[in-house]
Amino acid sequence: MLSHTLGDFELSIFSDGTYPLDGGAFFGVVPKIMWSRKAAADERNYVQAGLNSLLIRTGKQTVLVETGMGNKLSERMVKFYGQPAELLSNLSAAGVASEDIDVVINTHLHFDHCGWNTIRKDGKIVPTFPRAKYYAPEGEWQYARKPSERDAISYIPDNYDPLVKSGQMMLLKGGEEILPGISVKTFPGHTASMQAVIIQSGGSTACYISDLIPTTAHIDLTWGMAFDLYPLQTIESKKQYYAKAIPEKWLTVFTHDPKVPWAYLEKDEVGKMVARSV
Ligand SMILES: [Zn+2]
Repeated sequence: MLSHTLGDFELSIFSDGTYPLDGGAFFGVVPKIMWSRKAAADERNYVQAGLNSLLIRTGKQTVLVETGMGNKLSERMVKFYGQPAELLSNLSAAGVASEDIDVVINTHLHFDHCGWNTIRKDGKIVPTFPRAKYYAPEGEWQYARKPSERDAISYIPDNYDPLVKSGQMMLLKGGEEILPGISVKTFPGHTASMQAVIIQSGGSTACYISDLIPTTAHIDLTWGMAFDLYPLQTIESKKQYYAKAIPEKWLTVFTHDPKVPWAYLEKDEVGKMVARSV
């Protein structure tokens, strides 16, 4: 388990496993000759993607940012993505029970970010984290009810609709402070309403930047994913993020990096983005 102290908070990375993603989809318009130096592709052109959740222990509360892919994929989706389903066993191996989680935050509602929000039990969908208050962006939930043809496959209503219905999931406009030191900020690009989670304690900041910068291989401004619905906004949002995160030395958490779940971002002498390991 990877841990880091941020002021009074303890941050830990928990993985739901890794899964294959088409390299072209992962790197958008970036030519393969360039991205394949950073991410090795197999004979089917798949690269490996991680599923990193962030656990924050504030001393008073235990917060889980993102819940991976879960175990409710359809047979067809399992064919594409597998279904590693490792998050709960990884949490439990570190002594974290589902009942220990006080707050769950989803940056957006794609299936690989909120999969363990719920589980199927005796034919019913129930919350995986029974005591938790769940949070997700309101704009994302509205969109997920009527997604475009292009990304409808990314939304599995069982991951969030039952929680919204029961009142266990709160919907966020963007900008709210969920707990002292833990707030959300909207960074449009990947979707219109994706929210990063900003964690501040003792004068230090970490940010779960989610699919705005899914891996350390995506830190260049123009290296966006083909999945991004608004690629030009991804570039603007990254600029906005770097304007704070670089000078203030934020620890950036990468959802889909299978090897480097967090790093500090810097510009080298020629202005190229580099990820400095923790
Ligand atoms: Zn996504």
